[in-house]
Amino acid sequence: MIDRVIYRQLLDTLGPGVTLVAVSKTKPIEDILALYEEGQRDFGENYVQELVDKAARLPADIRWHFIGHLQSNKVKYIAPFVHLIHGVDSFKLLREIDKQGAKQQRVIDCLLQIHIAREETKFGLDATELESLLQDPQMNTLPYARVQGLMGMASFSDNAELVRGEFHQLKTLYDRYAGPRHWTRLSMGMSADYPLAIAEGSTLVRVGSLLFGAREKP
Ligand SMILES: *Cc1c(COP(=O)(O)O)cnc(C)c1O
Repeated sequence: MIDRVIYRQLLDTLGPGVTLVAVSKTKPIEDILALYEEGQRDFGENYVQELVDKAARLPADIRWHFIGHLQSNKVKYIAPFVHLIHGVDSFKLLREIDKQGAKQQRVIDCLLQIHIAREETKFGLDATELESLLQDPQMNTLPYARVQGLMGMASFSDNAELVRGEFHQLKTLYDRYAGPRHWTRLSMGMSADYPLAIAEGSTLVRVGSLLFGAREKP
């Protein structure tokens, strides 16, 4: 069940220049359609199979964001239609996205995932790894994988100063490259921390449980 009032309020607080990605992972088709009927077009999913199944059953003008950890061998399933892949953290994966984009004759937009949280378990590049990836001359050989910016997840913490600091760090890194590289997208902020992310310059917030209700723990 989605709450239309919360949806409207959320849209009002985003302000211009911030896109809401409604994270619908584990949620049924009916909930996605309900939000679609309110006008929502950007939806995010974490699992390839779930995304492919849902995309086949839902309106074709939905912009599907892949926000999970993508394995190279699964890129081919989403390459024909995915709008933006948020969590790219290796050259190997970019090369595969380029290969599958070439097959489909479509440029696939991507974001590089940066590790900003304290938790060790999260994926992503650090500042040094980002620098060397971007400097790699091979990066210029991937016309079908277009890097458009960065994505990150802050620590799961009640400490607003800590979380805000992590978003600030990500924005600073983004600003270092955005101009010369014509980047336009900075994906940061979830249900618990999106106001802090917007305050620090997010252009894409990925909000799930606030819109769709809590997810069942697997
Ligand atoms: C699940 C998920 C979200 C949404 O989380 P909520 O706390 O439900 O808003 C955002 N980003 C990523 C990468 C996720 O996996």
